Amino acid sequence: MLKIARFCNKVKTVPPREAAHFFSAVVKSQVVSSHLLPTYARVDLAFERGEGAWLFTADGERYLDFASGVAVNALGHAHPALVKALEEQAHKLWHVSNLYRIPGAERLADRLCALSFADVTFFCNSGTEAIEGAIKMARKYQAVTGKPERFRIVTFEGAFHGRTLASLAATGNKKYLDGFGPPVEGFDQVAYADLEAVKKAIGSETGAIMIEPVMGEGGVRVVPHAFLKALRDLCDKHGLLLIFDEVQTGIGRTGDLFCYQHTGVTPDIMALAKALGGGFPVGAFLATTEAAKGMTAGTHGSTFGGNPLAMAVANAVIDVITADGFLDRMKQNALLLKQRLAELKDRHSSVIAEVRGEGLLIGLRMVPPAAAMVDELRAEKMLAPTAGDNVVRLLPPLIIGEQEISEAVNRIDRACTRLAQLHARPVKEAAS
Ligand code: PLP
Repeated sequence: MLKIARFCNKVKTVPPREAAHFFSAVVKSQVVSSHLLPTYARVDLAFERGEGAWLFTADGERYLDFASGVAVNALGHAHPALVKALEEQAHKLWHVSNLYRIPGAERLADRLCALSFADVTFFCNSGTEAIEGAIKMARKYQAVTGKPERFRIVTFEGAFHGRTLASLAATGNKKYLDGFGPPVEGFDQVAYADLEAVKKAIGSETGAIMIEPVMGEGGVRVVPHAFLKALRDLCDKHGLLLIFDEVQTGIGRTGDLFCYQHTGVTPDIMALAKALGGGFPVGAFLATTEAAKGMTAGTHGSTFGGNPLAMAVANAVIDVITADGFLDRMKQNALLLKQRLAELKDRHSSVIAEVRGEGLLIGLRMVPPAAAMVDELRAEKMLAPTAGDNVVRLLPPLIIGEQEISEAVNRIDRACTRLAQLHARPVKEAAS
């Protein structure tokens, strides 16, 4: 018998065969040490190249990628249209700064605005910067509307808006804020989907409400559309701006180009990043002319934002995702995957408690720890990240077809079978 740590780090004694299997997963999960700042508990696994929904290690092992770099590689790896756009731009011009016009940025802004509620776009480099920009815009709007005291923003428990100081304060997660000094002032977190709590939180200093229409990191929780509608009504009633954080949900992930489009609710400001560059770092915040009216020359900036390389790739992402039939096909595949997962849940009810989400932003709420499932999936050569609320997130590239869905379902099935056996077998506590 071997003593190993599993499920909540408790030391258990298990038979050698079971231990051998489990041990390989634990060893793979070990934290890698290097000269990188150790802020990530990285898995000891490196990839050399990718193709579509597959990643390859240097020694040729093939992994099914249902993480997509955490909802980033929407078109999979090495998509020919993106490679071509990047290569062509690389030969022409990389960077000029925002002191001059950037035709690729103007084109992308025109397209994003034509495809959404927005009139203007600001390009940045990440999701957290897009959120910072959205927060600044909301505050400035209130200031130029004669209400500078309205700098506070209502946000939601379990949300995730990023890691810069204001985004962290908006997120309000104590674990992430601890030790970094006083949180940036001006955020009031209320319980998720609790309308009475929102009403109570709105005061004379409130200027906006910010929410993810599907809470990704928070456990793939789909915010009820009626709740979003009620937020819109509250904003209209009190003169507040409604900000949607679509960093994870945007650019097709939930079935429409933007998630708000199927909620029946239109925000005033929307933050994007992740899939917008398909793997090239780019973020954006978009707004109506009215919401953006305070953001005049000199009020905001970014050296790299709207960089020609990023714009070339993001324009190519939009070409592919808005091509005829792309999102319809993706929605059909998402439905098929969800149906197959629902069958798995019925067969493995001791392992999967719930299948939820929209489009290809899918959450499996687990009975055993979600991290154990992620380890089992990795043993099956399939990648998927965890999320809050004991959820495993399935974020495949939007280009997956029936073959990848079958591969994924078979791997999840086997992982569930093993977890169910491990779970059901009585495991003796170690004597010590
Ligand atoms: N907002 C949401 C909804 C996110 O999921 C994330 C990242 O996971 C962010 C903001 C922050 O984005 P980034 O990591 O690009 O700064």
